[in-house]
Amino acid sequence: MEAAFGNDSPRSRMVRRLVLAFSGLLLLAMILGLVSLYRIAVSLDQRELEQSQFHANAALAQLHKAERAYLWTHASWQAAYDHLARPADRQWAFDEGNVGATLYSDDGYAGVFVLDDQGTLYAIVQGRLTDLGFDHFSPEGHRILQQARQAMAQKQPASGYVMFAGQPAVFTSAVIRPPGLADSLAKHHSVMVFIRLIEADLLSQMGKTAGLTDLAIAASDNAADDMGHLRLQGVPYRLTWRMDQPGSDLLQTVFTPLAVALLIILALMVLLARYAMRTSADIDRSYHQLAISKRALEASEARFKAVAEAASDWIWETDAQQHLIYLSPRFTELTGHDAELWLNQPICTLFDCETGHVETWLHSLGASESTGTLRCHYLDKAGQRRECRIAARAIIEHKICKGFRGTCTDITDEVAAHARIQHLSQHDALTGLPNRNKLFRFLEDSAKVSRAVLMLDLDNFKPINDSLGHPAGDAVLMEVATRLGQMTRSSDLVARLGGDEFVIVLIAPGTRDELDRFCARLIDTLKQPMAVEHHKVQIGASLGVVISDDYPGGPSDLIRYADVALYGAKQSGKNTWRYFSTQMSAALLEKRVLEQELREGIPRGELRLHFQPRFKVDGVTIASAEALVRWQHPRLGLLMPDEFVGLAEESDVIVLLGNWVLQEACKEAGAWPLDVLVSVNMSPAQFSRSDVVRDVAEALRTTGLPAHRLELEITENVMLNDVEGALQTMNALKELGVRLNMDDFGTGYSSLGYLRTYPFDSIKIDRRFVQSLGKSSSDRSVVQAIISLGNAMGMTVTAEGVETAEQLALLSDDQCHEVQGYWLSRPVDNQALISLMASAATHTPD
Ligand code: C2E
Ligand code: CA
Ligand code: CA
Repeated sequence: MEAAFGNDSPRSRMVRRLVLAFSGLLLLAMILGLVSLYRIAVSLDQRELEQSQFHANAALAQLHKAERAYLWTHASWQAAYDHLARPADRQWAFDEGNVGATLYSDDGYAGVFVLDDQGTLYAIVQGRLTDLGFDHFSPEGHRILQQARQAMAQKQPASGYVMFAGQPAVFTSAVIRPPGLADSLAKHHSVMVFIRLIEADLLSQMGKTAGLTDLAIAASDNAADDMGHLRLQGVPYRLTWRMDQPGSDLLQTVFTPLAVALLIILALMVLLARYAMRTSADIDRSYHQLAISKRALEASEARFKAVAEAASDWIWETDAQQHLIYLSPRFTELTGHDAELWLNQPICTLFDCETGHVETWLHSLGASESTGTLRCHYLDKAGQRRECRIAARAIIEHKICKGFRGTCTDITDEVAAHARIQHLSQHDALTGLPNRNKLFRFLEDSAKVSRAVLMLDLDNFKPINDSLGHPAGDAVLMEVATRLGQMTRSSDLVARLGGDEFVIVLIAPGTRDELDRFCARLIDTLKQPMAVEHHKVQIGASLGVVISDDYPGGPSDLIRYADVALYGAKQSGKNTWRYFSTQMSAALLEKRVLEQELREGIPRGELRLHFQPRFKVDGVTIASAEALVRWQHPRLGLLMPDEFVGLAEESDVIVLLGNWVLQEACKEAGAWPLDVLVSVNMSPAQFSRSDVVRDVAEALRTTGLPAHRLELEITENVMLNDVEGALQTMNALKELGVRLNMDDFGTGYSSLGYLRTYPFDSIKIDRRFVQSLGKSSSDRSVVQAIISLGNAMGMTVTAEGVETAEQLALLSDDQCHEVQGYWLSRPVDNQALISLMASAATHTPD
């Protein structure tokens, strides 16, 4: 029990002391009671003993008196004096029966003696005359003689106890003399002795008179406790008798119930004590727990404080009316506002939200007892707009909303980086014109109206670039962009596809005549000389035109048509324009043929797989190898993916192609000397045309490659088509255990939002950003923003398309995680990859 009270409180100690004191007192009272009971019993027994001893003594005294009286009749007798002096007259004494056999036969004396100082004068033992003398019993004989002579002074016989024939006996002795003889004369006279054995008859006789039961004689050293007893002077025997023991009886009758009562009391006491202890221990424990939870609360408060002070976020709390009642110290540091001034203000006066009301949002959290986040903004002390994300949860007590508590994360920089990435992903870095992405979206958005799509290619541009250098080329492109902008309306769109290719989309282009005039004017304008780095240069332009009313189609169709028309214009001798018509579509036809050839070529084994390793930023350690498909075309030779993957994506051929790559890549990777990832590109078209989860699981199963070694590279276009479905598919892929890599990051529409929602493990910065590293500082800051974004989300960041040592050095400085590109290794066939891995395995420091 002690252990339970390991950490005593003063109260528990007090209770214990009280319980102990009470128990002690009770015990003491019980002991005292028992002792006095015992003493009463003992004194009762003692009194009984004394009484019975008195009776026994009285009986013995009676015996002695009778014996002495009887002897007196024989000793104080003239005739005896005359006949039993020395020598004794046996004739008179025995034969005539004066002091003879009848003393035994009638009176029961075992011995009758006459003694004097010289010895025995006369002896009868068991009624028979004998020569045995009492001197045999010396010094008994001498003692008896002396006692008789001393008793003479009181004119009476002596009596006492003596051993006779091995048995205790009563003797009586008296000087033989005539009645009336002077005492002084009787001094040397002989003495008559009668001896009576103390035997059963005698004892029962005595017992009756004295009222003692079982009167007996016992050797001195063995008398039972419950027997009364009396020592017999001069012999080693005592008289015993059965005796009442009222004290013992009392104890015996009282003892059992008393013992039971005591046991019960004891048990009750123990129970009481334990109960008291337990109760106090319980109280202690709850106090203790209270203390612990108080301490835990203090600790969590301290922790909370530490977090509140250390985090880049700040913490707020409101009451049920959504008035701010707490703002952590970071609030002032991050916003510049004085927290005091904001306390008791409604939270919605601090935050503003473009997609909803803070107030209703919090209200709904309170109603659903859930947590949530909301993108908001606020104005800091300097009046600058800051973007933030607030996370909140309702404080619910007893099912009642007592207020709200949450954090506010400043995401201004993140949002700015996002906006920049977004802009870059939609615009051409050089001219600032919309790029292919934006063009496609524009065409999609304007699908319902009539449009003319003009594809423009500069004539003479390449020679200028080659002779005057890239900066001059860039200046020309910028001038072209400006002029095109000036010639179009704000509802139109001018985009740069890359190189010297531009696209103009005219909304509601009007009649064919009007369009012709526009094209002529355009070419004329571009032909105007321009001043570039102190040179006057002149360029021309060719235009391919398609009118969507005549040839309806999606963005890629329209651009392809315009491209075909442009081809026609160039064929017709530059600085002119052509409209698309189906007669021009021999090129389109070629594509259908190619698609058919691919469909048949895949089962025939015409595809090849190359691998391009991906390295840690040290440029030495291989982290992965990316599978890149090629087509060994029987007629056209080795084709690169750009030439046939897009084609495959237009039909289910992409599924055939994708599955072949998956199987092949997993199979080869299983035999590599290094345990590295194999990365497989997945086309968005594959997602919509096939069950990719099943396909991937199948590939893993048939090749036996562990799932954690497979990485799928997916571009965000996948998400664009079917947001919900894509999320489900990717979660299912993650469950298989494969890794997901977002490919071509920065070229899509809304990269950041997708990154947050989808379960990506890593991101690949598109090579466009990487390749301008060292040339454009704005691209470098984008790369840095992406790296820190990846770090913040715990994702591995790869830079692809690393072509120079300088790019690698910059990426290493910016702590990019992994790199890939021609500078490190071009795509190689499996055999070459294996040797590369083998040498890497022996050369890597670790
Ligand atoms: P991607 O996924 O961005 O693959 C990287 C492309 O960049 C590869 O071109 C690679 O050869 C090239 N590259 C690598 N390092 C450098 C460099 O330092 N500089 C430059 N300029 N380029 C570099 P490739 O093999 O022609 O593949 C082109 C695209 O085709 C790939 O782009 C990918 O989107 C697609 N693709 C390739 N194989 C497959 C495949 O098996 N399935 C699918 N669905 N698409 C594939
Ligand atoms: Ca890729
Ligand atoms: Ca890529």
